[in-house]
Amino acid sequence: MEIVRERSAWRALLDERRLKGDTIGFVPTMGALHAGHLSLCDAVRARTDFVGVSIFVNPLQFGDPSDLAAYPRDLDDDASRAEAAGVDAIFAPSVEEMYPRPPSVVVSTGPLAHRLEGSSRPGHFDGVATVVTRLLGLSGPCVAAFGEKDYQQLAIVRALVEDLEIPVQIVSCPIVREPDGLAMSSRNRRLSGAGRLAALALSEALELGARLVESGERSPGRVGAAMTAHLAAQPLVTPDYAVAVDPDDLVEPVEIASPVRLLVAATVEEVRLIDNRAASPPGDVEAG
Ligand code: AMP
Repeated sequence: MEIVRERSAWRALLDERRLKGDTIGFVPTMGALHAGHLSLCDAVRARTDFVGVSIFVNPLQFGDPSDLAAYPRDLDDDASRAEAAGVDAIFAPSVEEMYPRPPSVVVSTGPLAHRLEGSSRPGHFDGVATVVTRLLGLSGPCVAAFGEKDYQQLAIVRALVEDLEIPVQIVSCPIVREPDGLAMSSRNRRLSGAGRLAALALSEALELGARLVESGERSPGRVGAAMTAHLAAQPLVTPDYAVAVDPDDLVEPVEIASPVRLLVAATVEEVRLIDNRAASPPGDVEAG
Protein backbone atom coordinates (compact mmCIF):
# COMPACT_ATOMS: atom_id res chain seq x y z
CA MET A 1 0.00 0.00 0.00
CA GLU A 2 1.36 3.36 -1.01
CA ILE A 3 1.34 6.45 1.23
CA VAL A 4 1.28 9.60 -0.86
CA ARG A 5 2.10 13.00 0.63
CA GLU A 6 1.91 15.33 -2.36
CA ARG A 7 -1.11 16.53 -4.28
CA SER A 8 0.60 16.13 -7.65
CA ALA A 9 1.60 12.53 -6.86
CA TRP A 10 -1.95 11.66 -5.76
CA ARG A 11 -3.42 13.09 -8.93
CA ALA A 12 -0.80 11.25 -11.04
CA LEU A 13 -1.41 7.93 -9.27
CA LEU A 14 -5.16 8.07 -9.79
CA ASP A 15 -4.84 9.27 -13.41
CA GLU A 16 -2.49 6.38 -14.11
CA ARG A 17 -4.98 3.86 -12.66
CA ARG A 18 -7.82 5.39 -14.70
CA LEU A 19 -5.65 5.15 -17.86
CA LYS A 20 -5.25 1.43 -17.15
CA GLY A 21 -9.03 1.20 -17.13
CA ASP A 22 -9.52 0.96 -13.36
CA THR A 23 -12.43 2.62 -11.60
CA ILE A 24 -11.54 4.65 -8.53
CA GLY A 25 -13.09 4.51 -5.06
CA PHE A 26 -12.29 7.29 -2.61
CA VAL A 27 -12.89 7.62 1.14
CA PRO A 28 -12.08 11.02 2.68
CA THR A 29 -11.32 10.81 6.43
CA MET A 30 -9.55 12.66 9.21
CA GLY A 31 -7.78 9.47 10.31
CA ALA A 32 -7.77 7.61 13.64
CA LEU A 33 -9.39 4.93 11.54
CA HIS A 34 -11.97 2.57 13.03
CA ALA A 35 -14.46 0.02 11.75
CA GLY A 36 -16.83 2.81 10.62
CA HIS A 37 -14.20 4.18 8.23
CA LEU A 38 -13.33 0.66 7.07
CA SER A 39 -17.00 -0.02 6.23
CA LEU A 40 -16.77 2.92 3.80
CA CYS A 41 -13.66 1.32 2.26
CA ASP A 42 -15.60 -1.96 1.87
CA ALA A 43 -18.48 -0.11 0.22
CA VAL A 44 -16.25 1.43 -2.45
CA ARG A 45 -14.18 -1.76 -2.80
CA ALA A 46 -17.40 -3.56 -3.81
CA ARG A 47 -17.97 -0.99 -6.58
CA THR A 48 -14.49 -0.08 -7.85
CA ASP A 49 -11.06 -1.51 -8.77
CA PHE A 50 -8.93 0.83 -6.66
CA VAL A 51 -9.55 2.16 -3.15
CA GLY A 52 -7.90 5.38 -2.00
CA VAL A 53 -8.29 6.88 1.47
CA SER A 54 -7.36 10.41 2.41
CA ILE A 55 -6.26 11.24 5.94
CA PHE A 56 -6.26 14.95 6.62
CA VAL A 57 -7.32 16.83 9.75
CA ASN A 58 -8.67 19.91 8.03
CA PRO A 59 -8.01 23.09 10.04
CA LEU A 60 -10.60 25.03 7.99
CA GLN A 61 -13.47 23.10 9.58
CA PHE A 62 -12.38 23.57 13.21
CA GLY A 63 -13.53 26.78 14.87
CA ASP A 64 -11.95 25.84 18.18
CA PRO A 65 -8.12 25.60 18.10
CA SER A 66 -8.04 23.32 21.17
CA ASP A 67 -10.43 20.88 19.45
CA LEU A 68 -8.13 20.88 16.39
CA ALA A 69 -5.04 20.31 18.57
CA ALA A 70 -6.70 17.48 20.53
CA TYR A 71 -7.96 15.63 17.44
CA PRO A 72 -6.32 12.14 17.49
CA ARG A 73 -3.59 11.54 14.89
CA ASP A 74 -1.77 8.21 14.37
CA LEU A 75 -0.68 7.65 10.77
CA ASP A 76 1.27 4.41 11.47
CA ASP A 77 -1.73 2.76 13.09
CA ASP A 78 -4.02 4.09 10.33
CA ALA A 79 -1.71 2.69 7.65
CA SER A 80 -1.73 -0.81 9.15
CA ARG A 81 -5.52 -0.79 9.54
CA ALA A 82 -6.01 0.48 5.99
CA GLU A 83 -3.57 -2.06 4.54
CA ALA A 84 -5.30 -4.92 6.40
CA ALA A 85 -8.61 -3.68 4.97
CA GLY A 86 -7.25 -3.90 1.41
CA VAL A 87 -6.85 -0.17 0.80
CA ASP A 88 -4.57 0.47 -2.20
CA ALA A 89 -3.23 3.91 -1.29
CA ILE A 90 -3.43 6.60 1.37
CA PHE A 91 -3.24 10.30 0.64
CA ALA A 92 -1.91 12.00 3.78
CA PRO A 93 -0.90 15.57 2.92
CA SER A 94 0.46 18.05 5.46
CA VAL A 95 -1.49 21.24 6.15
CA GLU A 96 1.14 23.18 4.13
CA GLU A 97 0.72 20.79 1.21
CA MET A 98 -3.07 21.21 1.18
CA TYR A 99 -3.02 24.94 1.89
CA PRO A 100 0.31 26.36 0.64
CA ARG A 101 -1.33 29.79 0.96
CA PRO A 102 -4.59 30.91 2.56
CA PRO A 103 -7.29 29.88 0.05
CA SER A 104 -8.60 32.72 -2.12
CA VAL A 105 -11.74 30.74 -2.89
CA VAL A 106 -13.80 28.90 -0.30
CA VAL A 107 -17.10 27.12 -0.78
CA SER A 108 -20.04 28.91 0.78
CA THR A 109 -22.80 26.58 1.98
CA GLY A 110 -26.50 27.42 2.07
CA PRO A 111 -29.35 27.08 4.61
CA LEU A 112 -28.93 23.30 4.97
CA ALA A 113 -25.58 24.05 6.60
CA HIS A 114 -26.77 26.82 8.89
CA ARG A 115 -28.79 24.76 11.35
CA LEU A 116 -27.79 22.09 13.90
CA GLU A 117 -24.02 21.48 13.57
CA GLY A 118 -23.71 24.65 11.49
CA SER A 119 -25.33 26.77 14.14
CA SER A 120 -23.19 25.29 16.94
CA ARG A 121 -19.99 25.38 14.86
CA PRO A 122 -20.10 28.52 12.68
CA GLY A 123 -18.08 28.14 9.47
CA HIS A 124 -17.70 24.38 10.01
CA PHE A 125 -19.53 23.31 6.86
CA ASP A 126 -17.84 25.92 4.65
CA GLY A 127 -14.56 24.35 5.80
CA VAL A 128 -15.87 20.85 5.11
CA ALA A 129 -17.27 21.82 1.70
CA THR A 130 -14.00 23.52 0.73
CA VAL A 131 -11.78 20.59 1.63
CA VAL A 132 -14.18 18.02 0.11
CA THR A 133 -14.24 20.03 -3.14
CA ARG A 134 -10.44 20.10 -3.21
CA LEU A 135 -10.08 16.40 -2.37
CA LEU A 136 -12.64 15.42 -5.02
CA GLY A 137 -10.91 17.73 -7.52
CA LEU A 138 -7.57 16.06 -6.80
CA SER A 139 -9.05 12.57 -7.02
CA GLY A 140 -11.03 13.07 -10.24
CA PRO A 141 -14.02 10.98 -11.36
CA CYS A 142 -14.64 8.36 -8.69
CA VAL A 143 -17.09 6.73 -6.32
CA ALA A 144 -16.74 8.51 -2.96
CA ALA A 145 -18.15 7.12 0.28
CA PHE A 146 -19.51 9.15 3.20
CA GLY A 147 -21.06 7.91 6.45
CA GLU A 148 -24.56 8.57 7.77
CA LYS A 149 -22.79 9.12 11.10
CA ASP A 150 -22.32 12.72 9.88
CA TYR A 151 -25.83 12.94 8.52
CA GLN A 152 -25.91 16.69 7.90
CA GLN A 153 -22.46 16.55 6.28
CA LEU A 154 -23.67 13.77 3.96
CA ALA A 155 -26.65 15.90 2.90
CA ILE A 156 -24.35 18.88 2.25
CA VAL A 157 -21.85 16.80 0.26
CA ARG A 158 -24.67 15.44 -1.89
CA ALA A 159 -25.85 19.01 -2.53
CA LEU A 160 -22.28 20.16 -3.22
CA VAL A 161 -21.66 17.47 -5.84
CA GLU A 162 -24.99 18.19 -7.50
CA ASP A 163 -24.82 22.00 -7.38
CA LEU A 164 -21.17 22.29 -8.49
CA GLU A 165 -21.51 19.52 -11.12
CA ILE A 166 -18.65 17.47 -9.65
CA PRO A 167 -18.30 14.18 -11.59
CA VAL A 168 -18.34 11.94 -8.54
CA GLN A 169 -20.85 9.33 -7.42
CA ILE A 170 -21.63 9.57 -3.71
CA VAL A 171 -22.30 6.37 -1.78
CA SER A 172 -23.69 6.62 1.75
CA CYS A 173 -23.01 4.03 4.44
CA PRO A 174 -24.93 3.20 7.63
CA ILE A 175 -23.54 4.03 11.08
CA VAL A 176 -21.23 1.39 12.54
CA ARG A 177 -21.74 1.04 16.29
CA GLU A 178 -19.94 -0.59 19.20
CA PRO A 179 -21.79 -3.66 20.56
CA ASP A 180 -23.41 -1.49 23.28
CA GLY A 181 -24.77 1.01 20.73
CA LEU A 182 -22.20 3.82 20.90
CA ALA A 183 -21.59 5.18 17.39
CA MET A 184 -17.95 4.64 16.47
CA SER A 185 -16.01 7.90 16.30
CA SER A 186 -12.35 8.89 16.33
CA ARG A 187 -13.30 11.25 19.14
CA ASN A 188 -14.31 8.32 21.40
CA ARG A 189 -10.58 7.75 21.95
CA ARG A 190 -10.50 10.91 24.03
CA LEU A 191 -13.09 9.68 26.56
CA SER A 192 -12.24 8.21 29.99
CA GLY A 193 -13.93 4.96 31.05
CA ALA A 194 -16.65 6.95 32.82
CA GLY A 195 -17.05 9.27 29.82
CA ARG A 196 -17.30 6.32 27.48
CA LEU A 197 -20.18 4.91 29.60
CA ALA A 198 -21.86 8.33 29.83
CA ALA A 199 -21.64 8.72 26.03
CA LEU A 200 -24.11 5.85 25.68
CA ALA A 201 -26.76 8.44 26.57
CA LEU A 202 -26.66 9.64 22.94
CA SER A 203 -27.69 6.35 21.32
CA GLU A 204 -30.13 5.70 24.18
CA ALA A 205 -31.77 9.11 23.62
CA LEU A 206 -32.20 8.22 19.94
CA GLU A 207 -33.76 4.85 20.84
CA LEU A 208 -36.13 6.63 23.20
CA GLY A 209 -37.04 9.20 20.54
CA ALA A 210 -37.61 6.48 17.94
CA ARG A 211 -39.89 4.54 20.31
CA LEU A 212 -41.94 7.70 20.90
CA VAL A 213 -42.28 8.39 17.15
CA GLU A 214 -43.07 4.73 16.42
CA SER A 215 -45.75 4.70 19.11
CA GLY A 216 -47.52 7.69 17.58
CA GLU A 217 -46.04 10.81 19.18
CA ARG A 218 -46.59 13.47 16.53
CA SER A 219 -44.97 16.47 18.20
CA PRO A 220 -41.31 16.98 17.19
CA GLY A 221 -40.97 19.33 20.19
CA ARG A 222 -42.02 16.61 22.64
CA VAL A 223 -39.73 14.03 21.01
CA GLY A 224 -36.82 16.50 21.16
CA ALA A 225 -37.59 17.38 24.79
CA ALA A 226 -37.67 13.71 25.82
CA MET A 227 -34.32 13.09 24.13
CA THR A 228 -32.80 16.21 25.72
CA ALA A 229 -34.06 15.16 29.16
CA HIS A 230 -32.45 11.76 28.73
CA LEU A 231 -29.11 13.36 27.78
CA ALA A 232 -29.32 15.91 30.60
CA ALA A 233 -30.02 13.20 33.19
CA GLN A 234 -26.45 11.95 32.74
CA PRO A 235 -24.16 14.25 34.78
CA LEU A 236 -21.15 13.95 32.44
CA VAL A 237 -23.24 14.88 29.39
CA THR A 238 -24.05 18.44 28.31
CA PRO A 239 -26.72 18.34 25.57
CA ASP A 240 -26.40 20.70 22.60
CA TYR A 241 -29.40 19.72 20.47
CA ALA A 242 -31.83 16.81 20.16
CA VAL A 243 -34.32 17.11 17.29
CA ALA A 244 -36.73 15.26 15.03
CA VAL A 245 -36.43 16.74 11.52
CA ASP A 246 -37.35 16.14 7.91
CA PRO A 247 -34.71 13.70 6.54
CA ASP A 248 -34.02 15.86 3.46
CA ASP A 249 -34.05 19.53 4.47
CA LEU A 250 -33.41 18.93 8.19
CA VAL A 251 -36.23 21.31 9.15
CA GLU A 252 -38.51 20.39 12.07
CA PRO A 253 -41.96 19.46 10.68
CA VAL A 254 -45.11 20.94 12.21
CA GLU A 255 -46.10 17.40 13.07
CA ILE A 256 -44.58 13.98 12.53
CA ALA A 257 -46.68 12.40 9.78
CA SER A 258 -43.89 10.80 7.72
CA PRO A 259 -40.37 9.43 8.44
CA VAL A 260 -38.08 11.77 10.35
CA ARG A 261 -34.40 11.82 11.21
CA LEU A 262 -33.54 12.10 14.88
CA LEU A 263 -30.25 13.90 15.53
CA VAL A 264 -28.45 14.55 18.81
CA ALA A 265 -25.27 16.39 19.75
CA ALA A 266 -23.73 16.64 23.19
CA THR A 267 -20.44 17.28 24.92
CA VAL A 268 -18.96 14.58 27.14
CA GLU A 269 -15.75 15.48 29.02
CA GLU A 270 -15.17 18.36 26.56
CA VAL A 271 -15.49 15.97 23.61
CA ARG A 272 -18.24 16.89 21.17
CA LEU A 273 -20.20 13.82 20.04
CA ILE A 274 -23.00 13.45 17.48
CA ASP A 275 -25.35 10.61 16.55
CA ASN A 276 -28.57 10.10 14.59
CA ARG A 277 -31.09 7.53 13.41
CA ALA A 278 -34.23 7.22 11.33
CA ALA A 279 -37.70 6.94 12.89
CA SER A 280 -41.09 6.45 11.30
CA PRO A 281 -44.61 6.98 12.63
CA PRO A 282 -46.80 3.88 13.09
CA GLY A 283 -47.96 2.27 9.88
CA ASP A 284 -45.22 3.86 7.78
CA VAL A 285 -43.53 1.13 5.77
CA GLU A 286 -40.17 2.95 5.69
CA ALA A 287 -39.61 2.39 9.43
CA GLY A 288 -35.91 2.07 10.23
P1 AMP B 1 -14.09 11.47 9.90
O1 AMP B 1 -12.76 10.82 9.89
O2 AMP B 1 -14.73 11.52 11.25
O3 AMP B 1 -14.11 12.79 9.17
O4 AMP B 1 -15.05 10.52 9.06
C1 AMP B 1 -14.74 10.16 7.74
C2 AMP B 1 -15.93 9.46 7.13
O5 AMP B 1 -16.24 8.30 7.89
C3 AMP B 1 -17.18 10.34 7.13
O6 AMP B 1 -17.89 10.14 5.91
C4 AMP B 1 -17.95 9.81 8.32
O7 AMP B 1 -19.34 10.00 8.23
C5 AMP B 1 -17.60 8.34 8.27
N1 AMP B 1 -17.79 7.72 9.58
C6 AMP B 1 -17.27 8.14 10.76
N2 AMP B 1 -17.71 7.35 11.76
C7 AMP B 1 -18.54 6.43 11.21
C8 AMP B 1 -19.31 5.35 11.72
N3 AMP B 1 -19.35 5.06 13.03
N4 AMP B 1 -20.05 4.62 10.87
C9 AMP B 1 -20.04 4.92 9.52
N5 AMP B 1 -19.32 5.91 8.97
C10 AMP B 1 -18.59 6.67 9.81
